[in-house]
Amino acid sequence: MPENPLIIARLALVVPLNRLFDYRVPASMSTPTPGCRVEVKFAGRKKIGWVVEISDSTDVPEGKLLGLESIIDERPAWSPALWKLMIWCWAYYHHPPGEILATALPPLLRGPSPVVAPLSESWRLTADGLAQDQQKLHKRAPRQAALLQALAQPASAASLATHFENSDWRSVLRKLLAKGWLETCPAAAAANLEAKQGPKLNSEQQQALTGISQNLGRYATHLLYGVTGSGKTEVYLQLAKQVLKRKQQVLFLVPEIGLVPQLQRRVQQRLGLEPVLVHSAQSDGERYRAWYLAASGEARVVIGTRSALFSALPELGLIVVDEEHDSAYKQQDHWRYHARDVAVKRASLEGCPLVLGSATPALESLANAEVGRYQLFRLDQRANKRKMPDWQLLEMREQAVVDGLLPETLELLADNVERGLQSLVFLNRRGYAPVLMCRWCGWQADCDRCDSPMTWHHRANHLACHRCDSRRPVPQRCPACDSLDLHPLGEGTERVADYLQAQFPQTPVIRFDRDSTRRKNAAADILTTVGKGEACILVGTQMLAKGHHLPRVSLAVILNIDQSLFSTDFRAIEKLAQLLTQVSGRAGRGDEPGRVVLQTYHPQHAQLQQLISGGYFSLAETMLRERVEAGLPPYSYQAILRAESNQQGELTRALSQLTAYAESLAAQLSEDSQGLSGAEQLLVLGPMPALQARRAGRHRMILLFQSHRRPLLHWLVKQISVELERLPGSRKIRWAIDIDPQDQ
Ligand code: ADP
Ligand code: ZN
Ligand code: ZN
Repeated sequence: MPENPLIIARLALVVPLNRLFDYRVPASMSTPTPGCRVEVKFAGRKKIGWVVEISDSTDVPEGKLLGLESIIDERPAWSPALWKLMIWCWAYYHHPPGEILATALPPLLRGPSPVVAPLSESWRLTADGLAQDQQKLHKRAPRQAALLQALAQPASAASLATHFENSDWRSVLRKLLAKGWLETCPAAAAANLEAKQGPKLNSEQQQALTGISQNLGRYATHLLYGVTGSGKTEVYLQLAKQVLKRKQQVLFLVPEIGLVPQLQRRVQQRLGLEPVLVHSAQSDGERYRAWYLAASGEARVVIGTRSALFSALPELGLIVVDEEHDSAYKQQDHWRYHARDVAVKRASLEGCPLVLGSATPALESLANAEVGRYQLFRLDQRANKRKMPDWQLLEMREQAVVDGLLPETLELLADNVERGLQSLVFLNRRGYAPVLMCRWCGWQADCDRCDSPMTWHHRANHLACHRCDSRRPVPQRCPACDSLDLHPLGEGTERVADYLQAQFPQTPVIRFDRDSTRRKNAAADILTTVGKGEACILVGTQMLAKGHHLPRVSLAVILNIDQSLFSTDFRAIEKLAQLLTQVSGRAGRGDEPGRVVLQTYHPQHAQLQQLISGGYFSLAETMLRERVEAGLPPYSYQAILRAESNQQGELTRALSQLTAYAESLAAQLSEDSQGLSGAEQLLVLGPMPALQARRAGRHRMILLFQSHRRPLLHWLVKQISVELERLPGSRKIRWAIDIDPQDQ
């Protein structure tokens, strides 16, 4: 009797193993297409997975080979280009493929739910609904009558929610739907926006627009390097307009959720349509709806944060990555992808142009522009002819500093307050004080899971560890010597804001950090208040530094940056230069000229001086030359193997074994044809403690690999990723591979 031919589906399952799993396709099922979800038994439990390959052979012995339980999707949820991208990501990031695929889908599609059209959230009257006598109805059921009236024009849930404020209009809606007086309708029927003409582009903007639009319909990466307020967003919007005309979709990425509403408004105004939003604060239902609208082509413009890069967009015609230098584009746990880098790959697979915009491009991007891989466009002038702000360094040595502020700084703030202007005080620390210390014996409050000081939060009245989020009450007495003399050291936003509020009792001092914006809409409310333009002082963390347009802010004060000037991280100065330029860019965007004040103990610091006199570009060029000489990225490539365990001994042993293995592989390389030494081809550094050597009770160590040849680096990482699964004791260690790491 002829046997059924063996058909093997090789699956990506959501398990922390970097490999595929073979299952037999039973004769009763048709062969699933790669990209489809299937259900299987794994370790005795049901699990879903994605078919990656179909094969006619397997290494799994006959007796152990399981069959698929069921096939969930008839067609893959991915477009062909997106699926190719995901497979590329797997090869590039050496991360378990199931976890990669799961990251790229909305949570509801990580389980077995079928892909179905979500219920529409827009409604209109039916013929029956139209025929109702509203006056008669009003006497009997006033809320039903009100809803009928509100739906005289088709309307979406969002607009009904605004119209009826907090009242429970949804239960009334359900009644009317049940009566057959209402029906759902496409979102487009309820969107009725008017597109406004934008400003006439200046010649720099026009040049960029013309240059980029020549590449519509094909792959090209553009670096739009424009000083803060130079009108980059206007260029994006004009481009988007052309792409929409070509009946293609546009994807905008912003680094953080706080920047979404601003861009959403500008898209509504300029393009006259409702963009679909994708971000982590959405419910699973909202995420699914957004995914579906994009995948079905109904959404023409998608705006989102990092993971929105994986939106299913079958007619993608343009990707814009705004503030491309922002480290928030790099995922810092699980699958550590960089959304900007993956965007480059996606654009090339989709055959569409990509625009990377920034006032402070990453050195990686500038290096790519230098060799012509990216096309560079520069906007050196502020669009509305505003001048760039003036800088001033204030020396802190031997000065009377109170709660972090120099008397001179206080005077400048007072001056601004008097003139009814807005000011901004930036420091990168929330809470009241970063350290609570006993003045008697020197004891300080440390987190016992991370070995680092806990921040004192005065208002919330607790100590909090900013690494692991653990909290405890503030001790009344020193636990070591029983003294009452516990003293806050250093300043956080709370302390500076309290001090300033005491100095300027008539002026609102508004804190803008993660603590003060926890409540939903809190950040937007603050920005709206500030946008009204009345005098105030904003005290905030780097949330303030990002892209916000605050036209009435004329003075920016920067505190506490000295640590970065002497950091061992080779990227510290690059990141600092970006931060300082971005913060300063918040000042002087309106009528009043801008001014930036930086307090420092090191006003003569060479790179600080160069930044202020020559600007970001000049400093970036110097930094690039230094990176060439040091053989550091972007002129070499790095990968880090990260390992965490609560057992220090196991950790050190396993990493030493891997180091020896990596070194033996590297030692096999001799000078190559282009004269690179073995070490330039592959360098193995470590094992060494991670930057945060202990976090949440776990010891953390790293092993760093560096190479001038990207393929060699990936080859080594691949060998390592296989080897580490074989190590005895490996299960007690949490492993992660970090390709193109941004920190240690
Ligand atoms: P960026 O994105 O570079 O920070 P924006 O596009 O937000 O800059 O522009 C900054 C301000 O200048 C905005 O208020 C914008 O409306 C205005 N603007 C942009 N381009 C022009 C132009 N060509 N003429 C006049 N105003 C402009
Ligand atoms: Zn003490
Ligand atoms: Zn901690």
